[in-house]
Amino acid sequence: MVTVAGAGPTGTAAAKRLQEKGWDTIILEEHSQVGIPVNCTGLISASGVEELNLRKEVEETLMNKIRGAQIFSPNHEMVEVKRSETVAYVINRGNFDRVLARGAIEAGAQLRLNTKLIDVRNETVFVEHKGRGEIVKTKLVVGADGVNSKTRNIMGIKTAFKDFVHAYQVVATGKFDPKYVQVFFGDYSKDFFAWIVPESEERARVGLASTSGNVRKDFSVFVSEKNISGEFCDKCSSLIPIGEPLKGIVKDNIMLVGDAAFQTKATSGGGILLGIEAARILADSIDNHLRNNAPLKNYEKNCSTLNNELRLHWKIRQYMNQKNEDQMDALFRKMNKAKVGEFLSQFGDMDKPSRFVGKIMTKPSMWRLFPEAVKFFRT
Ligand SMILES: Cc1cc2nc3c(=O)[nH]c(=O)nc-3n(C[C@H](O)[C@H](O)[C@H](O)COP(=O)(O)OP(=O)(O)OC[C@H]3O[C@@H](n4cnc5c(N)ncnc54)[C@H](O)[C@@H]3O)c2cc1C
Repeated sequence: MVTVAGAGPTGTAAAKRLQEKGWDTIILEEHSQVGIPVNCTGLISASGVEELNLRKEVEETLMNKIRGAQIFSPNHEMVEVKRSETVAYVINRGNFDRVLARGAIEAGAQLRLNTKLIDVRNETVFVEHKGRGEIVKTKLVVGADGVNSKTRNIMGIKTAFKDFVHAYQVVATGKFDPKYVQVFFGDYSKDFFAWIVPESEERARVGLASTSGNVRKDFSVFVSEKNISGEFCDKCSSLIPIGEPLKGIVKDNIMLVGDAAFQTKATSGGGILLGIEAARILADSIDNHLRNNAPLKNYEKNCSTLNNELRLHWKIRQYMNQKNEDQMDALFRKMNKAKVGEFLSQFGDMDKPSRFVGKIMTKPSMWRLFPEAVKFFRT
């Protein structure tokens, strides 16, 4: 038996794959329903959806199709990335989690709601179910329990306040261009950015993350500066892990996946698709362990290609965070002269930056960015 703590996308993806490989799996979810509360914008890349074969799950939960992004510097320089085809989907995140959970259950996984992992000692998991203590006997434990992972604490992995940004998001009503995501850099969003992700012409997910310590105040500065009004419903506030993917994510019979393991893109905070990719690597590593006695720690090695992408996201984030508002404006001006928008429209990839970083210097218009590239690689 494998016990998975957390019925988010990574927990249910791991459970489904384990069941398909023939291993009994139980998912513990502390809430009374899967997919509640929603702390997410629900923007995922079309390329990732194809690669992970999630088209059906997305069709069931689709709210909008996105063709590109308008990215603004603090002083309103804009870099525009545009494609004629869909580059990303906006999904109903709560429904998406429920569809993935249904897939895991159909594959044979058990789901126990209202059941919170409290502690793990060897092959015993201590849980709280409706206020009562219970135990679950298990061979392996997967911590897919999100950004504030209890499992990570139990493994003794330390994180600090600086390893997270605080996000605040509302669903706003107003007038929006449904085809484009907007991203804004500015002092109101220290070490991150603000976003407008349209659900339709009339509704958008408007949010911001920062490390200032007062994200609600940052958010009100942003919305008043951008003149965003209308009714704010569905407010949410949560942390996003921003850093390198964690090391030491296998200890004895316990493993981490998803936000719990910092398998999140440090550029955008997105963790749904790369988390699901990691969950499948995890399930395959567990299968190889149970079937062939391969070391569980192989999971970490098997994540190395994914981790290279995540480290590149982290490098880009560190490079951006060094810049003040004036430097960011100057960078955007240089990017526009170098036709970065055109380049990203042709080669950009939201999830896997290695797919375009290597191509940057192959375009003559981009050569003017050479000094910035040197600074980037020295970061
Ligand atoms: C404001 C915001 C916007 C975001 N927007 C995007 C986006 O547009 N695109 C994107 O890709 N990513 C986005 N993300 C990140 C994305 O939400 C996460 O990366 C993703 O949810 C990680 O999935 P997970 O399964 O690892 O964790 P989670 O989705 O957090 O799931 C963890 C589950 O574990 C349960 N749980 C926690 N502790 C216990 C316990 N002790 N016992 C039992 N159950 C427990 C929780 O209830 C939860 O159901 C956003 C995050 C935030 C905060």
